[in-house]
Amino acid sequence: MTARPKATLRDRLQAKIDARVETARLTPCPRCGADTITARTPDRVAALDVRADPTPLDPVAEILARLDGRLTWCLTSGEHTTARIHWRSTEHIRAGHCTHTVIADHRCPPRPVQETLL
Ligand SMILES: [Zn+2]
Ligand SMILES: [Zn+2]
Repeated sequence: MTARPKATLRDRLQAKIDARVETARLTPCPRCGADTITARTPDRVAALDVRADPTPLDPVAEILARLDGRLTWCLTSGEHTTARIHWRSTEHIRAGHCTHTVIADHRCPPRPVQETLL
């Protein structure tokens, strides 16, 4: 007799669900309609739902984004793995050997004045 087969099945199902929400995908921003990459980052104790701009940043653009108060992320994908968003720690940035695509938090552009008045 195997031990608690029901729990095992549920664990496997939960792992599948986790993998799905952690897979980075392109979805339009519900507020401004811009293309954004969304995923749940699995790196932190509390999982974080990220919505980021799909535009890759060079080191200068990343510094500007961070000065602007936006978080930056590593977009990882391999030949056999799905795309994921990973937390960029200051150690990870300083180490300098990161070859990931760097993206920053999405921020909706300011609404045009006439639209705000309506
Ligand atoms: Zn990285
Ligand atoms: Zn937006």
